[in-house]
Amino acid sequence: MVILEETGPPHAGSLLTIDLDAIGANYRLLAERAHPAECAAVVKADAYGLGVGPVARILARQGCATFFVAHLDEAIELRGILPRVDSAAIYVLNGLLSGEEATFHAHGLRPVLNDLGQIDRWSRYCSAESKPLPAAIQLDTGMSRLGLPLSEQAVLFAQPDLASRFQLSLVMSHLACADTPEHPLNRTQQREFSTAIQHFPGVPASIAASSGVFLGPDWRFDLVRPGVCLYGVKPNDSGPNPMAQVIRLQGKILQIHDVDTPRTVGYGASHRIGGPTRIATVAAGYADGLLRILSNRGVAHVGEIALPILGRVSMDLITLDLSPLGNATETGGAVTPLQPGDLVDLIGPYRDVDAVAADADTIGYEILTSLGSRYRRRYIGAPSAPSIAEAHA
Ligand SMILES: *Cc1c(COP(=O)(O)O)cnc(C)c1O
Repeated sequence: MVILEETGPPHAGSLLTIDLDAIGANYRLLAERAHPAECAAVVKADAYGLGVGPVARILARQGCATFFVAHLDEAIELRGILPRVDSAAIYVLNGLLSGEEATFHAHGLRPVLNDLGQIDRWSRYCSAESKPLPAAIQLDTGMSRLGLPLSEQAVLFAQPDLASRFQLSLVMSHLACADTPEHPLNRTQQREFSTAIQHFPGVPASIAASSGVFLGPDWRFDLVRPGVCLYGVKPNDSGPNPMAQVIRLQGKILQIHDVDTPRTVGYGASHRIGGPTRIATVAAGYADGLLRILSNRGVAHVGEIALPILGRVSMDLITLDLSPLGNATETGGAVTPLQPGDLVDLIGPYRDVDAVAADADTIGYEILTSLGSRYRRRYIGAPSAPSIAEAHA
């Protein structure tokens, strides 16, 4: 394992380590599960906060040939990262807004057409250019968010010509409850989608994101589009997490504070110390994605020893109770005392993204995408891990 790349503010004390080999391994696991369906990758929101450049490059090396982002600007950035225009399909989930057609075309991007107006817009553009450019159509089957509602699907099915002036490269939909395998809506959406795609013979179909890959073969269709599982978050609550952990977040201790008289800690004086206590103040706060709900609730780790967050999480800082370390020393553990400059784990081997999300009453997605830009970011991996293609050559 070597450091492949370092980014972020050069003087940042706290450190976010991103294991690109783990992302590669997660892609391979998902691709095996999805086989014979194609495994695409969702890298919206800066690859869920982990950095679209290094993430997209490692995925492309694993053989990933189809990418999804949310915004047109994310797609343009991704096009600049991926080696060749013809090497990868890039879909923009948020759709095609008026006036964006030529930009999609110029960068070789594919809109996900979400209503009849967008289908009409892309058709007119392709006619004017005399080029059947590729695009996806999204059908709503239960999210009521993006995609053609049932009324518009009926119009499209009655007039298949509406999609004849461009290359319909994908028909897709999105599951609402895939992380709850027993939820009846999963089957309802699967049936509705299976019926709908009969109107598009020969066109690849896709309904599964990360959790959908684990629902079973009926949900895989021709292409799956996982995001969060690539980054180590578990697909559902049944059984152990099959995904490799990708990130480790270490906070730097700025000060060790010995409190020996009764006193309060932090804003709002929400925690009161009774007796002598040693507190470590760490350089990460809610501006760095340590959600404020973790006040008096979350923990950091030194090895397997959990250090509770005392008081409120502030913008740039948290305060940790170091007493558990003292107890560990008394019971014979060989824990050396912490010093300013030392690092503690905020997310790591003993408390993964899902555990921190549970502490914060949220989901791993929100923890990852909240991490912010004030950490030193270190990308690690094998010096030159062979890609699937290279390994098979
Ligand atoms: C975000 C998103 C995905 C990826 O979802 P994960 O749960 O992160 O795997 C796939 N499809 C659509 C339409 C999305 O919005």
